[in-house]
Amino acid sequence: MNSQNSTPQNSLPSVLVIAGFDPSGGAGLIADCKTIHANGGYAATVMSSLTIQNTQGVKSSNPIDARLFKAQLETLAEDIDFDAIKIGMLATQEQVEIVADFLAIKAHIPSVLDPVLVSSSGRILLEARAHQAFLNNLIPLATLITPNLPEIQTLLKLANANAQFDANNHEQSLGVLQTLKAQNILVKGGHATADKVLKQASDKLFSNLQTQPASNDFSAPWLNVIHNHGTGCTLGSAIATQLAHGKPLKQAITQAKDYLTKALKNADGMQPNYLPTNHQRHGSLAHFFEK
Ligand code: PLP
Repeated sequence: MNSQNSTPQNSLPSVLVIAGFDPSGGAGLIADCKTIHANGGYAATVMSSLTIQNTQGVKSSNPIDARLFKAQLETLAEDIDFDAIKIGMLATQEQVEIVADFLAIKAHIPSVLDPVLVSSSGRILLEARAHQAFLNNLIPLATLITPNLPEIQTLLKLANANAQFDANNHEQSLGVLQTLKAQNILVKGGHATADKVLKQASDKLFSNLQTQPASNDFSAPWLNVIHNHGTGCTLGSAIATQLAHGKPLKQAITQAKDYLTKALKNADGMQPNYLPTNHQRHGSLAHFFEK
């Protein structure tokens, strides 16, 4: 094999990201790429939607047509031997089905699915007719899903399980895992009132290892920062990159949380010059922080 066709000896672990494009750079593909490279990986991307937004909110989401979406995925997959897959925002039912088919073929590669159905500012990102395919075809194939509390509540509703989710109720949480047919769920506690009172951002991992279901806590200091757009994207991509490095799941989550804490902590000091506005603004995290 000549050098053009072979993998160089010092190749980087590669992560395929499938997500929306946020031109402001705070969330979506740009945040994913910055995170993956900052964590020592190589990122390649498939765009699901061109969103129109800035740090003040999402104005519209413009899904990429299924044919172009699939062509991006297939063209990258015939070229790069990916070590992990990260899925963020998907926009349409066709996209959900294409990704589910892809994950079924690539079941040997670890995958992280961030179930972003709605933006933090309330805009619907995944169309409603895609919800059942998302629930039944996609979630069971992902190695890890990373919902926050409102997202897990929405997923439960979609699965016709209307119980109020309580991450501290171990039995109930394992039941949720089974209801959603998920392999592993990292429930992000950032939206919990108790977390804010205790000044901890505590996430809980529930694993469906069949023989011994287990739960694990991952805590970091609660940071009350304004510039937090793309927090979910960043955590999921950091976990995917650590998995691409070959780290076991719990270690990958611990390292990703540590990275996220630093990227959040440094965010206020790493913003562009903004024009005056009357609107609330949420800028990017500092993905390439210095300490
Ligand atoms: N992906 C895209 C393209 C988005 O526009 C958004 C929110 O606006 C998200 C993901 C979710 O962002 P966050 O990580 O802040 O929940």
